[in-house]
Amino acid sequence: MIAILHRQCTLQQKSEVVRRLESEGYRVTVGAYADETVVGIVGDAPPGLAERLGAMPGVRETRDDAPAYALVSRAHHPETTRVRAGGVTFGGEEIIVIAGPCSVESQAQIRTIATSVASAGARMLRGGAFKPRTSPYGFQGLGEDGLRFLAEAGSGAGLPTISEVVGAEDVELVARHVDVLQIGARNMQNFRLLAACGRQGKPVLLKRGHMATIDEFLNAAEYVVAHGNPRVILCERGIRTFETATRNTLDVSAVPVLRERSHLPVVVDPSHAAGRREWVEALARAAVAAGADGLLVEVHDDPSRAKSDGRQSLTTEGFDSMMRGLARIAAAIDRGIDRREPA
Ligand code: PEP
Ligand code: MN
Repeated sequence: MIAILHRQCTLQQKSEVVRRLESEGYRVTVGAYADETVVGIVGDAPPGLAERLGAMPGVRETRDDAPAYALVSRAHHPETTRVRAGGVTFGGEEIIVIAGPCSVESQAQIRTIATSVASAGARMLRGGAFKPRTSPYGFQGLGEDGLRFLAEAGSGAGLPTISEVVGAEDVELVARHVDVLQIGARNMQNFRLLAACGRQGKPVLLKRGHMATIDEFLNAAEYVVAHGNPRVILCERGIRTFETATRNTLDVSAVPVLRERSHLPVVVDPSHAAGRREWVEALARAAVAAGADGLLVEVHDDPSRAKSDGRQSLTTEGFDSMMRGLARIAAAIDRGIDRREPA
């Protein structure tokens, strides 16, 4: 339930509304946009509360159709949240491009790719060290060595880093090495992992599960925030449909829907949606045009030898050329691609 306050409501009236709700034991949210203030509660409102609140001085209207995911919903927080992560801001005017290999394979590999994506304009370096592979015989990642190589390559290229954490027991370890923790599609409803990521201080990029509705996705994000971490970035990466030509179906519609329902920044991963490098650029353009705040793209210096997801990884040249095209799409919608200052 939310209460929208009158524009002319006094500070005292606002505090009175908050105090009343808190004294009744509710966890209270306060959002503001321009000169409008929204006070809400987390959880269900009992019958009669909306009426009682609506009668208080300073309250313009109450609504009890606000979603259960109060902490991430735009109904409670009309203003878009900017998530600062390793010196980069998601959710501002500028679009942030995260790039790097699916997996960190060696110190030399991640260094080469880091240098190359940085000079093409990437603002963050990705690389998996713990890989959630469909087959137990697939490359599982280099573990802590991979995290060390990633951090070292990122710092050499001037890029903050992101890597996936696959289990609650690894959260502390991954958080020690990277700037952003990634929760993968397969783990979107791993509630212990969501809670553990909520209890640590680094920002979290949460991927939508292949089979998850937008409502389930936002409830998963709510877990992270409810456990104490407000710095969450949502990532659409394609969902499973009847179509088999692509690896997944990129749900471009999710971008405007998520932006309408949530105040959190929205990033799109065109690589895991497409499954083939030839289609990544078109999907990246569509994502930027649809209003995404960022992109997460797989890039490899030698995709044919990649230990995972080579078929969908752009070459370093392909990435450079995609970045030039994206700048034009961003300009057409009055945004820009945030580019790292060349060293
Ligand atoms: C990845 O980013 O390499 C990955 C495994 O992604 P997803 O969880 O979206 O499949
Ligand atoms: Mn991958």
